[in-house]
Amino acid sequence: MLVGMTTFSHEPPGYSCPFCVMQHGEIDDLNQPTDVVAVTELAFARIAPRWWQHNPGEALVITRGHYENLYDTPPEVAHAVMDLTHRVAVAMRKAYPCEGITLRQNNEPASQQDVWHLHMHVIARHPRDVLYVHAKNGRGGRWVTAEERRPFAQLLADELHLPRSFD
Ligand SMILES: [Zn+2]
Repeated sequence: MLVGMTTFSHEPPGYSCPFCVMQHGEIDDLNQPTDVVAVTELAFARIAPRWWQHNPGEALVITRGHYENLYDTPPEVAHAVMDLTHRVAVAMRKAYPCEGITLRQNNEPASQQDVWHLHMHVIARHPRDVLYVHAKNGRGGRWVTAEERRPFAQLLADELHLPRSFD
């Protein structure tokens, strides 16, 4: 892992990174194998453990390697994230009962980054879902169970036909 390479680092010493340990088979309530939607050489996609109130099934596209933020991410890895994000967004639009897709990617606390490993949010949008009102106020989100996440992971996986294992 390339921890602490950034000039603009906020990752605490000894940080236990959930997106790294998940790839190594360590799981907990927020990080389950059934959350994984697709795995490629440099990126993977999963269902997020926290959703905005009116936007169920949010996905995250994450680098396989540990890069704290976009500044640290090598161009070829950033390209791989965008390639998979593109595929996940198209799959989500086809498979979910949504009417739009929003991408968000946060760097540093001022942007509301809360996991110190690069990830892109892929959010299913609905008319009048007031996503930006909730995001501005920092409320309206909730942690969701693995059982709630599982059917959304299956919907995306059925569209993508990509490996879902880190092996
Ligand atoms: Zn990590």
